[in-house]
Amino acid sequence: MKVLVCGGAGYIGSHMVAHLLENNHEVVVLDNLQTGHKSSLLGGKLYVGDLRDSEILDKVFSENKIDAVIDFAANSLVGESVEKPLKYFENNIYSVIKLLEAMNKHGVKYIVFSSTAATYGEPENTPIQEEDKTFPTNPYGESKLAVEKILKWCDRAYGIKYTALRYFNACGAHTNGKIGEDHSPETHLIPIILQAASGVREKIMIFGDDYNTADGSCVRDYVHVSDLASAHLLALKRLQNGGDSKIYNLGNGKGFSVKEVIDVARKVTGIDIKAEVAARRAGDPATLIASSEKAIKELGWEPKFNSLETIIATAWKWHSSHPHGYDEK
Ligand code: UDP
Repeated sequence: MKVLVCGGAGYIGSHMVAHLLENNHEVVVLDNLQTGHKSSLLGGKLYVGDLRDSEILDKVFSENKIDAVIDFAANSLVGESVEKPLKYFENNIYSVIKLLEAMNKHGVKYIVFSSTAATYGEPENTPIQEEDKTFPTNPYGESKLAVEKILKWCDRAYGIKYTALRYFNACGAHTNGKIGEDHSPETHLIPIILQAASGVREKIMIFGDDYNTADGSCVRDYVHVSDLASAHLLALKRLQNGGDSKIYNLGNGKGFSVKEVIDVARKVTGIDIKAEVAARRAGDPATLIASSEKAIKELGWEPKFNSLETIIATAWKWHSSHPHGYDEK
């Protein structure tokens, strides 16, 4: 099939593009390259443009017979979203409205949407299930939850079938060593730890050690980016086979504290990475762990990278060979 990947030059998007190509699908990418990298694309046809621009969307859908859409295009930093909520609502919600308008106009009926564990906020249960209460503690999660609701109504009105995938903490890199995580500035835990390991930065700051967790630092469920990609393709196939619109969690079902992640990274790299405790970061819940039973059962999802050692080893392969990321000038 021919898949439009919006935000395909981003971290998760580029691994999605690689996975689609490896499975012999045709790929069209639409990315404004604000945070994405042209050199992260291992193939496919790239359109540089913004989803909020109906003209570029019309061009993409007119020039290509798109069977389905996967949408990753969004701002995704929890801390920044607390500082700049309107940026998040404008970009993350309006872009999907324009995309859905274009899909409806061009008769495209399937979309897999990149949602997040941040839709839950401070969870009531661990592990979190899809039916649990959603009460985001930051505008990033709020923007993704709003889109999930928009998708529901667009399914009813226009028959656009969707799968929203709520990822927990995406991490790791493709085993080919050619693509990986590169944000500027970097804010995510594992790349920052590995930058401290490779000497690009001096140390890692632990954001809070007074949370209600075993060692006081935040606990997250780390899931490999290539496993996320495989779940998206399974979700698309399920929709194409007549599956109804649904929401799934994607995680490994196991939590690691910030301190534990640093320890595993020390073991994997063999480097005594320097760490220091700092203040809490705004908008961070203490613990987020997924139940992915539904995705495993209904999508037939089989995550391949379920040990944190292996996940960090793939990330280290990328970071140690690309200490400055894609280094595009
Ligand atoms: N974190 C940290 N130091 C950093 C970056 C992140 O202690 O330099 C913590 C952060 O507070 C959170 C966890 O690591 O508890 C994962 O954060 P990340 O930004 O990687 O992902 P998020 O959970 O925001 O999606």
